[in-house]
Amino acid sequence: MEPLHAPLYITAVFRQIGDAYLTERGTELKYSREENPTVRHLEDKLAELEGSDNALAFNSGMGAIATLYLSLLRAGDEVVLSMEGYGSTIELAKLLEKFGIKVRLAYPNAEKLCEAVSDGTKLVLVETMTNPTLKVIDVPEVAKRCREVGATLIVDNTFVTPLLYKPLKDGANFVVHSLTKYIAGHNDVVGGAILWNGPFIQDLWDWRRRLGTIIQPFDAWLIERGMRTLEVRFEKQSRSAEAIAEFLADHPKVKEVHYPGLKDDPYHEIARRLFKKGLYGGVVSFDLGSEENALAFLRSLKKIFPSPSLGGVESIATYPVKSAVKNMEEEQRKVLGITEGLIRLSVGLEPLDDLIEDLDRALEVVK
Ligand SMILES: *Cc1c(COP(=O)(O)O)cnc(C)c1O
Repeated sequence: MEPLHAPLYITAVFRQIGDAYLTERGTELKYSREENPTVRHLEDKLAELEGSDNALAFNSGMGAIATLYLSLLRAGDEVVLSMEGYGSTIELAKLLEKFGIKVRLAYPNAEKLCEAVSDGTKLVLVETMTNPTLKVIDVPEVAKRCREVGATLIVDNTFVTPLLYKPLKDGANFVVHSLTKYIAGHNDVVGGAILWNGPFIQDLWDWRRRLGTIIQPFDAWLIERGMRTLEVRFEKQSRSAEAIAEFLADHPKVKEVHYPGLKDDPYHEIARRLFKKGLYGGVVSFDLGSEENALAFLRSLKKIFPSPSLGGVESIATYPVKSAVKNMEEEQRKVLGITEGLIRLSVGLEPLDDLIEDLDRALEVVK
């Protein structure tokens, strides 16, 4: 008997009399808060996708980032983060200030990030493409600076996926993903991962099992199922996103479009250099001039669902000022170009014509 797909192990416990059963990476398999074969299967698939030696899967992207922070940092360490980082990634680092961690925020480009990194920097975390204004970071430059001072570089690659870019090849020490987004891809499950090259890190595994941040087997199975179509989904979403970005750029009601696939986007050159396949991802952001316009636009959409999150088969439109960057100070938002009229659109798999029709109709309410 040989099934095509790995079975789903919905069990909390495994048989143990004396010593526990050991997995091929030397970890004990006895209790699903520590290790589970369905989770291991997902990890193998993730490592294959990223081209990494190791992977650990978590119950959310934040579960992965929290576990990595706690494993790598000690009191007195300094962390450099991109100012336009994922909100919870920054807020969580700030919560760690009570344990003696120092947090330094830098404008999201290689020059400013490298300037912020000093001999005392322990950890640097950047996102390949920022949220919501889609600035593309020159990861190889940041990696070079991190190597100079011996800092550990973590790259959150959620927005671009390993299909477009593999940061470990360019000197990142760890890659993290919110699997919730493109990798799972169906807006129905939450998960995260850490990937790296070199030997297995028992300490990271220990932090995961002590914190209980492992992913549940059914969620791992759902994510592995979603991953099987990642490439076709992501290609179609990226092509639709590019067409939508061009449509919006020509629309008289739209003030500005952020999409690195547009030839005149300030991040086009660097995206072209880093990203494979001539694709630029499935997220487009655009400015409608005011909060009033942005909210009226969201209310007028019929097919595109207004909500936070991204990367799923259904298109989702987000109002970042009230979601992604809600905790950011206004002044900092201005510096980053996150305006009151900004909408972030995650393009799904609906027919392109239907999406453009929905956008065009909703844009009629914009003054
Ligand atoms: C969503 C997201 C996270 C957090 O992941 P969760 O799965 O929601 O915990 C981290 N980084 C980025 C870039 C994200 O988009």
